[in-house]
Amino acid sequence: MIKNGYYGEFGGAYIPEMLYPAVEELRANYEEILASPNFQKEFQELLEVYVGRPTPLYFAKNLSQKAGCKVYLKREDLCHTGAHKINNTIGQILLAKHLGKKRIIAETGAGQHGVATATACALMGLECIVYMGAKDILRQAPNVSRMKMLGAKVVAAESGSKTLKDATNEAIRDWINHPESTHYIIGSVVGPHPYPDLVARLQSVISKEVKKQLLKYEGRDYPDYLVACVGGGSNAAGLYYDYLEDERTQIIAVEAAGKGLLSKETAATTQLGKVGIIHGSKTLLMQNTDGQITEPYSISAGLDYPGIGPMHAHLFTSKRATFMSIDDSEAMQAGLMLSQTEGIIPAIETSHAFAIFNHKKFEPDDVVVFNLSGRGDKDLATYIDYFKLDQQ
Ligand SMILES: *Cc1c(COP(=O)(O)O)cnc(C)c1O
Repeated sequence: MIKNGYYGEFGGAYIPEMLYPAVEELRANYEEILASPNFQKEFQELLEVYVGRPTPLYFAKNLSQKAGCKVYLKREDLCHTGAHKINNTIGQILLAKHLGKKRIIAETGAGQHGVATATACALMGLECIVYMGAKDILRQAPNVSRMKMLGAKVVAAESGSKTLKDATNEAIRDWINHPESTHYIIGSVVGPHPYPDLVARLQSVISKEVKKQLLKYEGRDYPDYLVACVGGGSNAAGLYYDYLEDERTQIIAVEAAGKGLLSKETAATTQLGKVGIIHGSKTLLMQNTDGQITEPYSISAGLDYPGIGPMHAHLFTSKRATFMSIDDSEAMQAGLMLSQTEGIIPAIETSHAFAIFNHKKFEPDDVVVFNLSGRGDKDLATYIDYFKLDQQ
C-alpha cells in the first residue's frame, strides 16, 4: 500500500532542512533493523513476557446478543500500561538502541503514549523527555503522575490549544536541537515518512494475532468487519494491517465528532478536513479557508487531533474503509453500555467505536472484530462526572 513513502497522494516527508539528517538516518535504516533476526528476537520476547502478548481475542457473548452479530474484542486494554501504544514504544526503543541513541523524546495527548514511552525508557535505562499540552496535563493527571514515577521529565506545551498538536510542535523543535543523540518516538501513524510505516509495522502484531485467533475460533482467518477508533490511526492501522489487501474484510474507522460535525468543536478529520501538511506529512486535516489548522475538540484526549495518518487519508479517499463519526454523548453512552454488558470499562477513545451499533446494522452471521484499544481507568473521573454516578 505504501510506495516511496506515499499512500496514494498522502504521506511523504515535508520537514525543515535541519531535521533532514535525523529523519533520513531513520529512513535509511529502519527496514533493515526491523527485519534483522536480532531485533525480531528481542522484540518478540519483550512483547510476550513484558507487554503480555498475545492479547486475547474475546468473543463477547452478551454484546453479540444485543447487537445481533458475532462480536469479538481484541483486548489491547490488557497490554502492560493499558493500551496498544506500548507495542510501538517497545519497538521504537529497540530501534533507537540499534541506532546508538541515548536520549528519547516523545509527544503525548491522552498521556498514554507518554506513559508507554516512559515505561520503555525505564526498561532500557534511557533518558526520557515527554512534551504534553498544558490542558492535557490537567485533564490527564493520573498519567502525568505515572510518567513522573517512571522517571520521565514532563514538559508542558503552552502554545495554541495547549493540546496534542502543540506538544508535537515542541517535540519537533527539541529534535532539531539534538538530532544526533536523540530519537523521537512518535506515538501514532503520523509524522514524516518513515514514521507512519514504522509505527504501522510495529502495531501490525495486532492483526497477525487476530488472524491466528479467528482461525481457531471461527475456522477462517478473516472477519467480515474490522472496527477501530482513529485518532492518528495507530491502533486502527495495527488491526487492519494484514487485511488491507483482503477485500473479503470490510474496514470501519471511527472518528470523534466531538459536540457534532456542525458545532465547530469536533475532531472528525475526514468529514471536515482538506488536503494539507501537518507535522511533516501530506494528509487530510481540519483547516480554515486560509489553510490555518483549526483547533480540534473531543471529550477524549487521544482523539483530539486535527489530522489523521496518511494511510487512513488514503483508505478514506480510495473508499477501502468506511469512516463514521461519533459524538461525545454517543461515545460516553457506548462506554457505559460496554462496561455494564461485558464488565469491561473502555477508554473513552475506544468507546467511540462501540457507538456504531446506533448507525450500522450487521447480519447475524457477520463476524465483527473491534479493537479494544485501551482501558478506561484514566477516564473514570470523566465517566463518573458525566453520568453523575457519584450522586446515585
Ligand atoms: C492514543 C489512543 C488512541 C488513539 O490513537 P491511535 O493512534 O489512533 O490509535 C485510541 N485509543 C486509546 C486507548 C489510546 O490511548
